Amino acid sequence: MKDKLATLCLSEEAALKGLFLGPQAENSQWVSAQINALLNSWFEWRRSFRPGDGRAVSSADMESADYIKRRQHTDDVLQELASRFEQEIPKFSPRYIGHMFSETSLPALFGHILTLLHNPNNISGESSWVGVTVEEEAITALAQMMGFRKGIGHFTSGGTIANFEAVYRARTRCVNWMAAGLEQGCCSAFASAAMGYRSYNEISHGVKASAERLNPFEGNPFIAAQEISQKIGRDFLGPVLLIPEHKHYSWTKSAHVFGLGAEALWPVQLDAHGHLDIQDLKRQIRRAQLEDRPIVMVVSVLGTTELGMIDPIHEVQELLDMYRHVEGWHIWHHVDAAYGGFLCSLKGENQEVSGVLSEQSLKAIEAMGRATSVTIDPHKLGYVPYSSGAFITADEKDYYQRSFGAPYVNFSVNKDKGPFTLEGSRSAAGAVATWMTAQCVGFSQEGYGRLIARTIRLRKEMEEVLRENVPNIRVAPSGDANLLGFCVAQPGDSLQKVNERTLRLYETFAADNHSDFFISKTRIYKKCYSRYFENVVSSWQGRIDADELVLARICIMNPFFKTKEMNVDFQDLFVQSLQERVRGLDSLKI
Ligand SMILES: *Cc1c(COP(=O)(O)O)cnc(C)c1O
Repeated sequence: MKDKLATLCLSEEAALKGLFLGPQAENSQWVSAQINALLNSWFEWRRSFRPGDGRAVSSADMESADYIKRRQHTDDVLQELASRFEQEIPKFSPRYIGHMFSETSLPALFGHILTLLHNPNNISGESSWVGVTVEEEAITALAQMMGFRKGIGHFTSGGTIANFEAVYRARTRCVNWMAAGLEQGCCSAFASAAMGYRSYNEISHGVKASAERLNPFEGNPFIAAQEISQKIGRDFLGPVLLIPEHKHYSWTKSAHVFGLGAEALWPVQLDAHGHLDIQDLKRQIRRAQLEDRPIVMVVSVLGTTELGMIDPIHEVQELLDMYRHVEGWHIWHHVDAAYGGFLCSLKGENQEVSGVLSEQSLKAIEAMGRATSVTIDPHKLGYVPYSSGAFITADEKDYYQRSFGAPYVNFSVNKDKGPFTLEGSRSAAGAVATWMTAQCVGFSQEGYGRLIARTIRLRKEMEEVLRENVPNIRVAPSGDANLLGFCVAQPGDSLQKVNERTLRLYETFAADNHSDFFISKTRIYKKCYSRYFENVVSSWQGRIDADELVLARICIMNPFFKTKEMNVDFQDLFVQSLQERVRGLDSLKI
């Protein structure tokens, strides 16, 4: 018999258990009561608005046959739909360790549901009085968590659009500066595009107005390029984005969407640990200068989508600061923290929480507030329902770049973000859900910090038990967060063989409700991950006869993955399950 006291969890952890429904819907009574209360106040709100207007649906209506029939039909359809959704991936279960989603937090869910009832459109204050204010407050909370003094931004449907918001603004700033500089007589597109606000503001309005024809994204890009070529004395090939090789695929989309062309994405190499290589970044900046290609932005990643790696954001910022001081180049630094932004909640005095991150990672996180802009997805590590992403800049000037008015919307001059957002109609739900988590979970070490630190500790433990118990397991090194990639390789195995084994292994985790666990997989390309790739394959002295390495991938996000109170130790069970699968593949000689 276990000691009764030992099975009780720490009081802080007990408090966190109120934040999620629980795998067996343990908190269902409270959730029902809260949702009922929300519905009731929503009903009351209607009833109290001009009650003298009277009722539209009478008792007689409600008794009519057609009314009853139509309602019955809706009931049936809804029930059927609900049972279809029961075939969905059981994301709430600790057995789901596949992609970067899990249970959503209850405060977020309540906020989301309440917003759906009111259905505000945050395109402007005219259509959403409360929603836009709550959005501001949520942005401020996110910005503060990430270390910005103030921060200005808005919610998006996700990280992809938030990254687009960054490219859109940085591209506008870059070409405005470039065009003005060239028009004023500077003969370097690169230097003009990095002149900074002070120099730009000193340029007279006359010059800025006539420079507009040199902006490839306002008029005709081909005519603009011809004129720029004349001014710089060489063929103008357009601006570039410097982005590390482990980038999310939304960056590739952005090059197409914004008409930059795929060639404009200049990759920055990774080091042997899979992080952005600062020396190569330096080389790429020099190359841009030599080839006279303006730099739209430099991107670093906080928490890669593949393996949760954290780039040396502090070193990138220091390098760019150095260029600003020494050369006068103002280069936009965007941090793609779609996945890892909430890791900033681990910062602070409590070593038990911050200590799960490496010193390098902590330094990277500390430097976030010095970047020009960031992307963060509350619908990932923020445990907020879809869709909830955000784009934030440190400086207002970088936020308010190019605007578009709409004749039918009353945009108030100072407040509305509407004329500046890529999206038009925007639900307030993602912002409100995030706001609720800021209030009720907290973006500090005592809230999200504790929760996320726990998932990182679990990833580390998992890494250890896999290494100890699964023969020939090769864990991809230097995962900085709660993602883990691995394959099974005997010494000397060829890469093709290992990849086939990993794919077969992945397939044994069937993608239906009957699997004992749910995992994901990813591919690491030799071309992109070069030194890291070699580093991983050399761990089993593998023969490189393929251009990619397939990795089984798990993401431990579920807050109940290791809970003493449950009947199952999911960590043990997963290891056993993996052992059996590997033995099965061994016996088939795969
Ligand atoms: C998930 C992710 C994105 C894209 O976010 P969506 O919300 O899926 O559009 C961008 N960058 C990184 C690093 C991500 O992890």
